[in-house]
Parts: sequence; structure tokens; C-alpha cells
Amino acid sequence: MIQRETPIPERPHRCTEGPVRTCVGCRKRELAVDLLRVVAVWNGNGECAVTVDHTGNLPGRGAWLHPTDRCLEAAIRRRAFGRALRITGSPDTSAVVEDVRAQVALTGSPSPAREQAAKNMSTP
Ligand SMILES: [Zn+2]
Repeated sequence: MIQRETPIPERPHRCTEGPVRTCVGCRKRELAVDLLRVVAVWNGNGECAVTVDHTGNLPGRGAWLHPTDRCLEAAIRRRAFGRALRITGSPDTSAVVEDVRAQVALTGSPSPAREQAAKNMSTP
């Protein structure tokens, strides 16, 4: 009886599967599909808000962000959205914050609030 070796199919490396973008939070390069695309949206009052482009179809300059609290906070702290989206002044990022929080909740990453609660419970 002849034992046949099963050839292991060579899978293409993940990094070559699509366009790569740089996260404005941590500045790491990542596949675009793993990042959130955010765009600037202007309201009638000349104020600017940053919102997540869920469909990938919104026009204008886009910035890319890991859907994590850490990258979001880093981006806000460094005003990376304003720079990446060419916004003068500080844009309203509350929509992005909400979106990322929702994503984090979905993926089950521990939120700082939950960690804090756990700490409080362990200390007498
Ligand atoms: Zn990041």
C-alpha cells in the first residue's frame, strides 16, 4: 500500500490579500478590510463631524482606524483625524466614538469600565 503525502496548499500571506492602509491611531499598516474608514461630514453650520463610512462609498478624503478604544483615543489625542482629513479646528468625533464602542462591545473586548468594575470588586 502506497502512502500518499497530502500536499499542504500554500496559502497566500494575509498581507497580500488587499489594499493596506495606515491606522491614524497607532500608525501601523493594516489591511483596509480590518480598519474602519472615517470621513469628514460638514453640516450646514460650517461645523465638521467625523463619521464612520460603513459602506465605503462616502466621498471625500478618508482616514483609517483600527476599531479599538486605544487607536481611537490615540487618534483623538493627537488630532490625527483633523490632520488626515484636512480639517481646520477640532471636528466632532462623537459618532466615531460611538461606532468604535459598539464594535468593541460586539467583538467582546473588555472595556475600561468593565475592567474598573472588576478591580473594584476584587479590592475589599
Ligand atoms: Zn491602530
